[in-house]
Amino acid sequence: MTVEQWGVRVPVRQGEETRQALIGEEALDVTLKVLHDGDGLVFPVLVERDGAARYVFEEQPGRIELPRHEQVGGIAIMQENDPDGAALILASRPSLHTVLFPESQVSGEYRTRKYAVLAGTPTTRTEVVEHGHRFVVDLAGAYFSARLSTERQRVFEQVCEWERVLDMFAGVGPFAITLAPRASLMVAADLNPQAILLMIENIRKNRVANVIPVLADARRLEKILPWKFDRIIMNLPLAGTEFLPEAFRLVRPGGTIHFYSLVSKEGEHLARVKELGGFLVTERVVRSYSPGQWHAVYDIVVR
Ligand code: SAM
Repeated sequence: MTVEQWGVRVPVRQGEETRQALIGEEALDVTLKVLHDGDGLVFPVLVERDGAARYVFEEQPGRIELPRHEQVGGIAIMQENDPDGAALILASRPSLHTVLFPESQVSGEYRTRKYAVLAGTPTTRTEVVEHGHRFVVDLAGAYFSARLSTERQRVFEQVCEWERVLDMFAGVGPFAITLAPRASLMVAADLNPQAILLMIENIRKNRVANVIPVLADARRLEKILPWKFDRIIMNLPLAGTEFLPEAFRLVRPGGTIHFYSLVSKEGEHLARVKELGGFLVTERVVRSYSPGQWHAVYDIVVR
């Protein structure tokens, strides 16, 4: 039987390295066969991620067919409220401790959602491994998405050792903790107290010594912080434009803003960026969101 699933395509020579990394991140969908596609291999993955696209895979023979779900660390999130399916998933995947069903959309200022526990340990807390970092997350308490993991690596490559970096909407700290080893100082702010508590845990767990967690509304950062920044991360895709002026006040002349936004046409925020005194270096699609809408990242240099 064939099944449509998210897949990551890599050149054949990177196949084994990619397979190991996906197993390490518990992201590989082991119920499906790897696809040979010209000079590349396509690995089936449980969750949509940067660079992934939909492919049709063959199922591994002899495998029990599991209900569709996505995996975040030791938690599976099901698309259906199906306790029997949840028990099957739990029994088939030894790395899982809990199966959840989302009872609400992602909502509110904290960008969180409610879950029902369908099977396993009654918790929404788990640990996610991403490019060698370990992040404690609580899916009901603070926003976390593994979908920006490639973005975090892309920005990491750009950071210089003398840079002071600010993440205005830092959540549990995945950008901050990824970028910190390359930066001189990393300031990571969020409005959600639970996100900040988890971030403090993650800072300790990953032994980074140059991240300052700040519990604050991004609207107040200019008043609170004594610095201008060489680089700013803005990842609040539905409402970020409201905060662009604040980011322009916080960045030094010549500094960079990585602005993530939900858009429905190319160049949607270009006029606003120019008006504020920035010029666009690149605009890239990060992932599709709905028909006609996608998450884009604008890399902006400030004059
Ligand atoms: N950057 C993180 C990541 O990639 O996992 C989290 C991004 S999440 C889409 C947005 C975060 O912004 C949430 O953690 C939310 O609590 C926080 N937030 C929302 N409004 C805020 C505000 N006015 N000031 C500071 N943080 C805010």
